[in-house]
Amino acid sequence: MNKAHNIYIHVPFCVQKCKYCAFFSRACGTPNWDEYANSIIGEVEHFSRILGRIQVPTIFFGGGTPSLMPVWVFTKIIDSIRKNFEVNTNAEITIESNPGTIDENKLGEFCAAGVNRLSIGVQSFDDDKLKFLGRIHNANDARTLIDAAIKRGIRVSADFIYGLPGDTTKDVIDICNEINKIGLTHCSLYELTIEPDTAFGKMELAMPDNDTMAEMYIAIENNLNIPRYEVSNYAAAGYECRHNQNVWDGEPYIGIGIGAAGRVFMDNVWYEELGGGKMFQPMSDDARAIERVITGMRTMRGVRMDSATKKILNLEFAKSHTDMVMFSGDRLHATKSGILVLDDLIEKLVK
Ligand code: SF4
Repeated sequence: MNKAHNIYIHVPFCVQKCKYCAFFSRACGTPNWDEYANSIIGEVEHFSRILGRIQVPTIFFGGGTPSLMPVWVFTKIIDSIRKNFEVNTNAEITIESNPGTIDENKLGEFCAAGVNRLSIGVQSFDDDKLKFLGRIHNANDARTLIDAAIKRGIRVSADFIYGLPGDTTKDVIDICNEINKIGLTHCSLYELTIEPDTAFGKMELAMPDNDTMAEMYIAIENNLNIPRYEVSNYAAAGYECRHNQNVWDGEPYIGIGIGAAGRVFMDNVWYEELGGGKMFQPMSDDARAIERVITGMRTMRGVRMDSATKKILNLEFAKSHTDMVMFSGDRLHATKSGILVLDDLIEKLVK
């Protein structure tokens, strides 16, 4: 029997393209949902044929804008996953959402169909900044959706972007204070990065300098009530995103849908996989171990040291740089100073 796999389903549609977005998604007013659902189900059935009736601990609908999906599409896909795999009774089932594409009623229907975690793309509580980013909603829409989700008793996360042109550390502290006031148990705060193939990539933007960005990053940790558990993610104990934690920790996951990627473990071999049947090829144990170091070191609990990771880790370097990395039980993790130079650190840690 093959191991348990987490499942990621990509929903590639958005109302309009945000100006900073380099994700695989397209603005599409009226997607062909029947065609979409059938192609996702075709992939689910394919993986069930090759992996067997494996356990599924988490299912994550990411985008794009999954909350654009009519609930019947979600239900059809979930039914097919349940029919083909053994979904754990306490499985975490997340959908990403954008304010303006889902109201209280639709949220209730998603929850009745199985959703137990909502990730909301808030990005900012400032209407001018939302307009600047090309978002379709205002701050009030976001607050209303957060309130509705919290009231429903499901787990709620909100995404924010900081480091916009003109942003100050005080702006970041204001976001943290509002997150604390709302009492969010999970949030992600991402630094705005300018990607070439985006609307922002074609503009001359005066971004905050590196020192200011570093100050903002430190201010987040000092002002949020919930601790950092990954470079850009914060959660109260027990409220971490289980799907992402499993993926970062090197557990297998199936990526389904045209913009998805997965790492499948079948008959003791790792496979690199792209959704939509675009790629499925074996990868070496060393290549997989390097990926585990990269994602694991981004988490505060660190990467698990077993025979695969020990083989590619430079443990001598780790032992002689205790200011940047620490051993804790069977894990190796970055210290607060190590996190600030993580890319360099990882490069030196891998033999
Ligand atoms: S809603 Fe998300 S995926 Fe869609 S364009 Fe905006 S940032 Fe990209």
